[in-house]
Amino acid sequence: MLSWKDSDLNSLADDLAHLHERVKNCPQCGNYTEGGECVVCASPRRDRRQICVVEQASQIAVFEQTGYNGLYHVLGGRLSPLSGVGPEALRIQELRERLAGGEVNELILATSPDVEGEATANYLAELCRDAGVTITRIASGIPAGADVGYADPATLSRALGGRQKI
Ligand SMILES: [Zn+2]
Repeated sequence: MLSWKDSDLNSLADDLAHLHERVKNCPQCGNYTEGGECVVCASPRRDRRQICVVEQASQIAVFEQTGYNGLYHVLGGRLSPLSGVGPEALRIQELRERLAGGEVNELILATSPDVEGEATANYLAELCRDAGVTITRIASGIPAGADVGYADPATLSRALGGRQKI
């Protein structure tokens, strides 16, 4: 960075200094946005019948590289009883409200394939069983114990393609 122009350095410093102020979460799905609905929710080309549930907004970027064209729902974490994270700490009520809207017909549970991610997926599947939507889980094209956010798009695409109803 010592070789950078002053203007580029100042621009980066300004972006970092105002990061929390400028980057918000989408009121609908929880994705990052600079205000109002995120680019995914606001797009008229997205398939509103599918919602892909992820743990963190930062994981959406890699799903976007797979060609997935539905919507998202960011939980803001996963169930972790040992760390004191229960259902009330996650955006689960917001998810139920979206399902109650009646437009969605498939809920894709894409939490990480590790112990807490699986427990969170199972909890959501049970909770949403009466919502009148097909509930699917991404297939394990991803190594057990890995973080979904670090998977390459090809592996993630296979996992999405091979998802199964639970
Ligand atoms: Zn959104």
